[in-house]
Parts: sequence; C-alpha cells; structure tokens
Amino acid sequence: MAKQIPLVEYLALEPEPHLVAHECTACGARYFDRRNACANCFATDFREVSIATTGELRAFTIVSLAAPGIPVPFVAGLIDCEGTSVRANVVNIEPDAEHVHVGMKVRLATQVIGTDSAGTDAIGFGFEPMQKGAGNGR
Ligand SMILES: [Zn+2]
Repeated sequence: MAKQIPLVEYLALEPEPHLVAHECTACGARYFDRRNACANCFATDFREVSIATTGELRAFTIVSLAAPGIPVPFVAGLIDCEGTSVRANVVNIEPDAEHVHVGMKVRLATQVIGTDSAGTDAIGFGFEPMQKGAGNGR
C-alpha cells in the first residue's frame, strides 16, 4: 500500500483523518499555524486538540481566477467546526451559487494531491457536502 503524508502539518491521517489545532491553554483560542504566543491573550502555552470533522459553512467565495495549474472555479470556504473556524475549500460540489450556500452541513474529505517518485501520496483536504446528491461526482 502507498505511503501517505499529509500536505499540511495540521492534518492528521490516523486513526481517521482529522484536523489538529494548537489551543491556548490560558484562553482556549485555537490556531492551525504555529504560534509563539497567543494573539488573543499573549500566553505562550499551547496544547494540541482534535477538531470536529463535521461543520457548517459560514462564508464562501467562488474563486474563478487562480495561479496557473490550479483548476478553477473552486469554492474557498470558512467552516465552523463546532466552534472552531477552519479555512478550506469546499469540494465535491458544483462551484456555483446554486449549489453552495451558507449554513450547509459539510464534512472533512481527504484527497490525494500528488505522488512523489517513491510512491508516497501527499494528502490534502477539503470539506464536502454531507447530503448525498448535492455534488455531481465529477
Ligand atoms: Zn490565549
């Protein structure tokens, strides 16, 4: 079986794919990037917390212009995962305003982004609609 590595540090693949945030032990603010100090309260202690794999789309932008090699249009979203805001693309859906709407329920979905010469898959993530039939399987 191919080896898999997550494309971003905050995506954990085991035992099931999920996101991991650094949570400020003083005020509970959560960050996906590495911080030396909390932007909210300036404390410097963090612990790792697992983020819910389901959430609700809070805001989105349909991106129709991107760097060469990036297929457009795609949906850049802000997802509320039980209180934690996650920026991610909304995938497995028609990228238009008829299909994507604020308040829709989504869940974490991983996908192989690329494979290196040693056969190791790089795994990225997005969020897909929870309702079957909302996407078109393309
Ligand atoms: Zn804090």
